[in-house]
Amino acid sequence: MFCFVDFIAAAKVTPNPELSHQLNNLYFCNSLNYLILIQRLLKTDKLYIGNGSFLENGMLAIDNNNRILEVGENLIYNGVKVEYFEGALCPGFVNTHCHLELSHLKGKVSQKTGIHNFIVELQKIRNASEVEKLEAIQQANLEMKVAGIAAVGDISNGDSTLKTKLKSTIYYHTFVELFGFRTHHADSIFEQGQALKATFANAGIKSSMVPHSPYSVSEKLFEHIAQEKDNSPICIHNQESKAENDMFESGNGKLVEMIKNFGNDMSGFRKTGKTALESYLARLPEKAPLLLVHNTFTSIEDIDKAKSTHSNLYWCFCPKANLYIEGQLPNIPQFIEKGVKCTLGTDSLASNDMLSIWEEIQTIQQAYPEISMEILIQWGTLNGAEFLGIEKELGSFEHGKRAEINWIKGKALTSL
Ligand SMILES: [Zn+2]
Repeated sequence: MFCFVDFIAAAKVTPNPELSHQLNNLYFCNSLNYLILIQRLLKTDKLYIGNGSFLENGMLAIDNNNRILEVGENLIYNGVKVEYFEGALCPGFVNTHCHLELSHLKGKVSQKTGIHNFIVELQKIRNASEVEKLEAIQQANLEMKVAGIAAVGDISNGDSTLKTKLKSTIYYHTFVELFGFRTHHADSIFEQGQALKATFANAGIKSSMVPHSPYSVSEKLFEHIAQEKDNSPICIHNQESKAENDMFESGNGKLVEMIKNFGNDMSGFRKTGKTALESYLARLPEKAPLLLVHNTFTSIEDIDKAKSTHSNLYWCFCPKANLYIEGQLPNIPQFIEKGVKCTLGTDSLASNDMLSIWEEIQTIQQAYPEISMEILIQWGTLNGAEFLGIEKELGSFEHGKRAEINWIKGKALTSL
């Protein structure tokens, strides 16, 4: 397989004890007020900072703790050899939407049949042996590491991913996903969610409780989730299909049929005459960072209304999963026109053949060549880090952040 993204700092730099005797590499850092050992000095043709900009012939100085010391164009540190990387460097990617626990379903669900058929099929084949599930989870975690992903927002319905997350060098935020359309089940579903959240939190993994989607969560369950007031990031699958809007606008359509076929009582559901997003957004906590995932059938009016309802929105695109499930991409340029914050996700291996933010970037670029690479990289790095609340550690090349660096080279350069 052609390898286009390499780790050069995070995975390969190990502190070299010999360096500590080379006093030439010690520099006084004013902002930190102590001497710092320069470990590496990197230079590349195009340095993508992660914040929507890039430097031609950019350079990075990395200290002995694998932190970024300086970003610039003509950095000189006596005694430190400049390492040149032909092509481009960018920060480690942030995958804001994944379902690691579904990794064993790779290649098993039919493509382009619509979300209602996807869900029905998923329910039938979801079960597998614990060993099979765990092996697939570990493999998927490794796949993301190799693809240059430094942090992941991961949806979980159970604790099957816990061990892998604990051992991984990738940062994980777990979104404990709740769903249930039956009002009288809302209390028990919420209690189970609290217990699962505590399992992850007690193990030291950040977690929050989130609704699966507007069409799979009762009003009462939404109310429970909205009571969580710790301002942790939350997410929801949004407008992934036309049928989702149909459900709220007319009270009919393929999703309504699916819900009824699952044996749910729809008598408590009221159509609103509005799109799905407009119908549910006010039910979610107003200040917590909220990630709307997919947005395939979101209109420009939806974006305006959402902006006026919620002050801390992020819009996540998973283009390869959209092509897999619905065979359609969101109208991405309209989100740029409206100046909203966008992020990228891979979704799960049930609806994608790989977990790579770089491949998601390529997919968007092919469909919308007018969107610049520096903007797409910002979506795949800093914006995701901001949403997860880890922007002081990851997401861009800035003094003090972890040196998680991807090297874009060879064939991949044609897309820059
Ligand atoms: Zn998803």
